[in-house]
Formats: sequence, C-alpha cells, structure tokens
Amino acid sequence: MSIPENIFRIKSTLPESVALIAVTKTQPVEKLMEVYNTGHKIFGENKVQEMLDKYEQLPKDIQWHLIGHLQSNKVKYIAPFVSLIHSVDSLKLLQEIDKQALKNNRVINCLLQIYIANEDTKFGLSFDEANKLIHSEEIKQLKNIRIVGFMGMATNTDFKQQIANEFKSLKHFFTKCSELETFNIKLTILSIGMSSDYLIAIDEGSNMVRIGSSIFGERY
Ligand SMILES: *Cc1c(COP(=O)(O)O)cnc(C)c1O
Repeated sequence: MSIPENIFRIKSTLPESVALIAVTKTQPVEKLMEVYNTGHKIFGENKVQEMLDKYEQLPKDIQWHLIGHLQSNKVKYIAPFVSLIHSVDSLKLLQEIDKQALKNNRVINCLLQIYIANEDTKFGLSFDEANKLIHSEEIKQLKNIRIVGFMGMATNTDFKQQIANEFKSLKHFFTKCSELETFNIKLTILSIGMSSDYLIAIDEGSNMVRIGSSIFGERY
C-alpha cells in the first residue's frame, strides 16, 4: 500500500482522542512530503541532526517531536522549534531544556520517558525516579518547560500479555501522578504504542501513538 493509504488506514483505526505521530526517522524528505500532502503534519524523529536537516528542508507548519535519546549538549539546536520532547530522562536534561527555551523566549513541552520494558537497551526513569523528579524542589525553578505527560516503550516481544501489563503499569502510574498539578506540571499525554503494539497501547489508555514502519514500510 502507498504511504497516503497507510496513513488513512491507520487514522481510521484510531479513536479521535488518540494523536498520531508519524515516525519519519531514516526516511527521505520526499516520503515525508507524501505524508504532509495528506494533511498530516506531526512528525517524530529520534536524532537531532536528522531532525534539523529535515526541518530546514520542509514546510514550517510541521510539528516536530523528538522521540529518541537526547544529549544535553544538543538541546540548543532544536530548542527554537521543537514542539514536544518525548524522551526526558534526567533533571540535568530538563534544566538544559529550560535554559535553552528561555534563550528562545518560549516554553518547551516535555514528556518524561519512563522505563517499563524488561530489557536493558531502553532509556528512561524508573517510577520511583520519575516520582521524585516531579515532586522535587529543583523542578519548581524551571519556568520555561512544561511536563505534559509520560512516554514509554514496551519490551520487544510477541507475548501480548506482557506488553499489555507493561503499558498498564505506566497508565496506573500516570493516573496516580496526574493528581499533581503545578504551574509547570500538568499530565495529559500518555505516549505509548508503536507499529507493532499501538492497538494494545490504545486498549491500555494511550492517547498518543508513534508509528513509523506501518506508514513507510520497513526501515533499511
Ligand atoms: C522508531 C521509533 C518508533 C516507531 O517504530 P515503528 O516500529 O517503526 O512504528 C516509535 N518510538 C520510538 C521512540 C522510536 O525510536
């Protein structure tokens, strides 16, 4: 199927409350334009340099989401335009995002990436670390960031029940933490689900899915 057909097929399966991030990593700008021309303008990239290159070449009304691991020293490059950072996993990174957001006279929306998989290849905070972070004194100093939710990735397995359980645990934590509301924390987004598991994620309460290969085909 073509890219536009894939986009329309996936959107038809998503409840209205669920936002779709088209994960465009490794894809050439021509293919991103095929998505753009369907009217879909929310793209996710996992590498800063690749996002920058594409940002420069493509229309300026695209919303760029950074979904991959972010190093503090690269925040400055995306701070002028990034629309949501899904992968915040430390106070130090959050402080740098705040500093760069201030320099650009804007507020940057962030998700905390929470580690839920039973693998050691994925980044993120434990529930305990995330809980400490959102209740910390330090976070209250950060005027130019907003924590708007959590992101998580399930274990790469065919065992659907395990994936569902991992998502369930994050949803539970999300619901608990949502009671906290401050000037820079208001949790409304739960970014869980990729091509292989987004239907499970939606069943478990996702309202933002990040889909690449089901739109573009396998990456090389
Ligand atoms: C690549 C990637 C995705 C999309 O993966 P697909 O299996 O191609 O849908 C989602 N989230 C993150 C963080 C990714 O790096």
